[in-house]
Amino acid sequence: MSARPEIREVHKTRCCVVGGGPGGAVLALLLARRGIPVTLLEEHEDFERDFRGDTIHPSTMELMDQLGLAERLLERRHTKIRHLSFGVGGQTVRVADFTRLKTRFPHITFMPQADFLDFVAREAARYPSCELRMGANVQELIVEDEPSADAPPRGAPVPVVRGVRYRARDGWHEVRAPLTIGADGRFSKVRRLAGFQPIATSQPMDVLWFRLPRRLEDGEDAFGRLGNGHFAAVINRWDYWQLAYVIPKGTYRDLRAAGLPLLRTSVAELLPELADRVDHLRDWKQVSLLSVESNRLRRWYRPGLLLIGDAAHTMSPVGGVGINYAIQDAVVAANVLTGPLRSGRPQLRDLASVQRRREWPTRVIQAIQSRAARALLTTVAASATPAGPPAALRLLPRIPLLRDLPARVVAFGIWPVRLDDP
Ligand SMILES: Cc1cc2nc3c(=O)[nH]c(=O)nc-3n(C[C@H](O)[C@H](O)[C@H](O)COP(=O)(O)OP(=O)(O)OC[C@H]3O[C@@H](n4cnc5c(N)ncnc54)[C@H](O)[C@@H]3O)c2cc1C
Repeated sequence: MSARPEIREVHKTRCCVVGGGPGGAVLALLLARRGIPVTLLEEHEDFERDFRGDTIHPSTMELMDQLGLAERLLERRHTKIRHLSFGVGGQTVRVADFTRLKTRFPHITFMPQADFLDFVAREAARYPSCELRMGANVQELIVEDEPSADAPPRGAPVPVVRGVRYRARDGWHEVRAPLTIGADGRFSKVRRLAGFQPIATSQPMDVLWFRLPRRLEDGEDAFGRLGNGHFAAVINRWDYWQLAYVIPKGTYRDLRAAGLPLLRTSVAELLPELADRVDHLRDWKQVSLLSVESNRLRRWYRPGLLLIGDAAHTMSPVGGVGINYAIQDAVVAANVLTGPLRSGRPQLRDLASVQRRREWPTRVIQAIQSRAARALLTTVAASATPAGPPAALRLLPRIPLLRDLPARVVAFGIWPVRLDDP
């Protein structure tokens, strides 16, 4: 049995948020603005890291606007994507036109996620009720038996989460709080420690993640292209293009054995506009293999603990909506939990209410992502190039009622949420 770590410090707060990704950082900001003592724990020393999206959706921009922060946020380096297009068989269809949306922000804002998180965390840290702790790697939950307030039988002792223990450079710390929120992403430690088992909602997808140089004269859009047995999402990151390149499941070893020249040829075939720079790929170290999948929890909470964002429902990168969903979870959690946190301890019914409001939109979007991923993987596995975009995609822009649907879903989610007045 491992010895109990020596605790250097016990810190007390009202809400302990684990994970400084979009969900956790925005939640900390919203609670701090309302004067709720909140401590945000992030395992990394900074917000720089790879394998994540850089998208800020119109709903998040509207939230920032509501908080009076939109203008300041947009002073940071960003680009605006007004359309999303999908190319297959030499034809390109515009799948989302954000300019038609009724919003002050009719575009997807692309900003390095590290910049966005840094901005949000700095704003949160301006409030005296907020404490931001970087390099805080949460390893344990503090669980204590307490008389149940709302789970039957009333008064019987139940295990309640009362905070976490984390390891930092200087040793172990304890954060004690009436409510802990796990916003620690798709490999959530908090979820595992709490004993939750996610249910897979789509099959895993193998994605190669690498960069190619970007030139000034290149177009600015992000786009997707399907062909020669592969799919590529191409994302503008200023001085380079970020490529997410889908390969048939389980073929990475063979691909590596065949050598980099084959990957370069295949990328050049699919993306002829980037063929003149595939030579930039000189070493497999430049290429990361990601196995991405989506899943969800049946229950997002237990006494003293709530999970939000990818920790509760890991989103596939398909459609680029996971950040939006994590932030919308944070908004709903702030709406529902501010009152209970002010007056004492949120009860199970409060935590259940957050799940109830967010579960349905999450399940719908995951079902859409799963269908899209299946169609993509079937084509990729068959190494086939369809003659052109599927009929449904081609017809979409011509049907007035449906035309704006993809843009609206990417921009606002299935069920738009708005921050209540405090
Ligand atoms: C390759 C890829 C590309 C994607 N592209 C997009 C996109 O373009 N647009 C989009 O909307 N979505 C995209 N997604 C999905 C998106 O990244 C997630 O849905 C979103 O980041 C979820 O936010 P979150 O705050 O719940 O979790 P995360 O963003 O994963 O943040 C969790 C945070 O918790 C921290 N953490 C983890 N464990 C601990 C611990 N033990 N202690 C303390 N801190 C901890 C992590 O360091 C991290 O900062 C992509 C996903 C992948 C895999």
